[in-house]
Amino acid sequence: MEYQPIEKQLLRSLTKAEAHVLLHQGTEPPFSGELNNNTTEGSYYCRQCGSPLFYSDSKFDSGSGWPSFDDPLPNSVVERPDNDGVRLEVVCSTCSGHLGHLFRGERFTPKNKRYCLNSIALEFREGAPQAEAIYAGGCFWGVEYYFSKLKGVLSVTSGYTGGEMENPTYQDVLSQTTGHYEAVRVFYDPRIIAYEELTKYFFEIHDPTQANGQGPDIGPQYRSALFYRNESEWETALYLIELLKKRGLKVVTEVKSAKRFWPAEDYHQNYYAIKGSLPYCHSWQKRF
Ligand SMILES: [Zn+2]
Repeated sequence: MEYQPIEKQLLRSLTKAEAHVLLHQGTEPPFSGELNNNTTEGSYYCRQCGSPLFYSDSKFDSGSGWPSFDDPLPNSVVERPDNDGVRLEVVCSTCSGHLGHLFRGERFTPKNKRYCLNSIALEFREGAPQAEAIYAGGCFWGVEYYFSKLKGVLSVTSGYTGGEMENPTYQDVLSQTTGHYEAVRVFYDPRIIAYEELTKYFFEIHDPTQANGQGPDIGPQYRSALFYRNESEWETALYLIELLKKRGLKVVTEVKSAKRFWPAEDYHQNYYAIKGSLPYCHSWQKRF
């Protein structure tokens, strides 16, 4: 299973000035960015792919004229040698968009690191950072039910992903001609729960060894699959599957690059919570 970056469709179209920085390693003039002096509590997201990168408690005033941070959210950015052969470039781990540079040893903060970022490469939103993960484990009602109970999970939506058809209905997916999976989109706070923990839980609330269905629900739309957004998540998924295989489980879960997620019809959302009953096809079982 080879690593594939998320599909282009998930990236926002950029203005010329945004593209200059994010796609062509440009740098905005110092003191020009609107987030340089922002001190509001909240989260900084990648402008191109919407992934959360930093929380405001790691932002500090370096006097440089660019937003400065000393600690990214887990696995949110990647550092690599810059083309200039001297500096370390900082890119978004999900879309590889250029964000800025990392400087060490300046002693601005105890962490002794300065992620010097372009304001224009970021988007600020108040509130906890909302990282996204998509899982398919059979009937989405049950998967949604269990993820909703997990600490660190902010919201869960039932829907469809993995296929080609735009805006599919439940009947479209049921017809097994769209290529979509019944899936859930989980928004979680990566400061509270790591992607690895979230994914372990996914393997424990459904049967990853059942092929072409889950429980009594048989068909390609009920297959077990997870949809990673970056290389770190891809590696985590393969690592966990390997662990389960070593424990004798013949895991059939597909590991796929994230595609567009289509929320399901309203009556599929919070199904068990509203009905006041328990899932028929899912239960939690310790596997790690
Ligand atoms: Zn990005």
